[in-house]
This record gives sequence, structure tokens and C-alpha cells, in this order.
Amino acid sequence: MGSEVLGVESRIAFIGLGHMGGPMAANLVAAGYQVTGFDVVPAALEAASGAGVVVAASASAAAEGADVIVTMLPAGKHVFAAFEGEGPGGGLLAAARPGALFLECSTISVEDARTAHEMVVASGHRGLDAPVSGGVVGAEAGTLTFMVGGSEEDFAAAGGILGVMGRRIVLCGGPGSGQAAKVCNNMILGVSMIAVSEAFVLGEKLGLTHQALFDVAANASGQCWSLTTNCPVPGPVPASPANRDYQPGFAGALMAKDLGLAVEALNATGVDAVLGRMAEEIYREFALGGGAGTDFSGIINTIRDGSERGGAD
Ligand code: NAD
Repeated sequence: MGSEVLGVESRIAFIGLGHMGGPMAANLVAAGYQVTGFDVVPAALEAASGAGVVVAASASAAAEGADVIVTMLPAGKHVFAAFEGEGPGGGLLAAARPGALFLECSTISVEDARTAHEMVVASGHRGLDAPVSGGVVGAEAGTLTFMVGGSEEDFAAAGGILGVMGRRIVLCGGPGSGQAAKVCNNMILGVSMIAVSEAFVLGEKLGLTHQALFDVAANASGQCWSLTTNCPVPGPVPASPANRDYQPGFAGALMAKDLGLAVEALNATGVDAVLGRMAEEIYREFALGGGAGTDFSGIINTIRDGSERGGAD
């Protein structure tokens, strides 16, 4: 059991049909898979039904007989509730057929991912952690990046299914490694966006135009995604959220969440990461202070406002 590559005849249960899960499930349907879905929110189920997902009355009903169970849930506690909890949103581990493959795609802590994997295995199933980056746009376009943790055999089995939903699929190591890669990447992202934003505000104070600083840094050692793709000032990169009043994009709430997971991992490992911890504080305050629903590059406005206050003292 377990070495087969799961093809289009595989039956998929999809649990969590929200912003990400909805379009991911729709892409699986469009690729010819039979997808049975469940969400605790009726509106999410309705939307998925419109995309051809067969709607189940509960998570466990969706999982019965499925070869693959995809979970795309808000946080670790929701994953545990879906795996073992009571009620319509729970009971996946007990309902799934022996040897079913769990693809846990939510962004959760490395520790929770390892615990979730142990629960899956203890229940007689197989599992990969497979968090994603690429946002709702990537979920809709089927161009997500999957960072995967688990065995090579299970990774090979899941390859076709992940390939429908994503463009870049990387096996990062054993269980939890996908979440480890995601948390490290997003810590870079949070820190680099703050650094780029501080540099633009400093440039403004020094009399540089945004375009001049961009033209230099984008072709010099300051080059990074936060500058060249998600540029926090309007103008230099027309597609960046700064050009549409910081509509996400990647919402401040999600950056705050991911940096919270990074700090959890820093604490668990004892790593001395001053900037990662500061980035978490900065984005936590940003999210609480009204930035939760705006793109995370909106942090530049907080930095600019803080600089104005500093200048007035
Ligand atoms: P979302 O809140 O839109 O969707 C989650 C869905 O799970 C909701 O519809 C909720 O009702 C449902 N749910 C919760 N518990 C359930 C249960 N027991 N059974 C069935 N359904 C249940 O969140 P999202 O934006 O789709 O994000 C999902 C995950 O992907 C999160 O972990 C997030 O951090 C991660 N992620 C999101 C993005 C993004 O841009 N939105 C990008 C990368 C990763």
C-alpha cells in the first residue's frame, strides 16, 4: 500500500473551502477529479457546489471512501478539530479508509504539523504537510508553490494532484519540513518588506524619488521580492498593491499570523533572531491597528507616520 501514483480516478475529499480551498478544489474538479467537499460555513459549500464540488453533509461523510483528504483550514486547532473533533466538522481520521493520503495544506506551526502527522500515521493513514504560497490569485490560477514534508513515496503519489493546484512543488524533507520551509521563507519576507519600506521612507527624507531608489536598488544588492514585485510605494512596479491603495495581495493579518508561527519556531529552537522577532511585533501591531485587511506592504505608511511623529518632537 502506498507506492501508487494517485491519478485522475482518485477520489478526493476537500475540507475547508474558503478563500484558498474553494479555488483549489475547483481546479481539481476542472482537471477531472471527483471532489467531495465540506466546510462548516454554508456559503463556502454553496460556492464550491457551483464549481462542481460534490457537497457532503459532514467532514467525515466527505472522507468516507476517499483516496486523498485535503485539508485547507485556518490554523492548527482547526486541523486537530477536523481530524479528531466531534460534530459535522470533525472525525476525519476515523472516517477515512486505511491508507488514505492526507494532504494537510493549511499554514500551521512545525510542531503542530509533526503532531498532526503522528496522528495520521497512528490512525493507519499516510500524510504530507503541504503548505502553499501564492495567495488567492495563485490558488485560482493553479500556480501555487507547495512546500512539502513527508516521505518520497507519498510525495510521488501526490505529485499529480499537487501539480493541478500548483506550479512549483518542492519536497523539503521529512514530516513538518514543508511548514519549516514556509515559516523560514515568510520570516525573510516580513523582515525584507520592513527593510525596503524603511529605505523608501529614508529616501524620501533624503530627497530621493521613489523611482531613483528603485532603479538603483532593484539592480543592486538591495534587490529582493519585496522591492521588485511587491514594491511598497506606488509607481515603480505597476502591479504592486501600493498602486491600488494597498488592497491585498497578502493581507497584514496573514503576515502577522505567519510571523507568530516563526516566533513559535524560534522559541522552540532557541535561535537568536532579533529581526524576525521584531518583525513579528511590528506586524502584530500593524494587524491590530487596522492593517489586518490591507496588504502587508502597507507597513510603509506606519513607518512614514512614525517618522512624521518623530520629526515633530
Ligand atoms: P479561510 O478562512 O478563507 O478558509 C478556511 C475555511 O476553513 C473556512 O471556510 C472555514 O469555514 C473552514 N473550516 C474551519 N474549520 C473547519 C472544519 N472543521 N471543517 C470544515 N471546514 C472548516 O482561509 P484561507 O485564506 O483559505 O486560508 C487557509 C489556509 O491557507 C490558512 O492556514 C492560511 O494561513 C493559508 N494561506 C492563505 C493564503 C491566502 O492568501 N489567503 C496564502 C497562503 C496560505
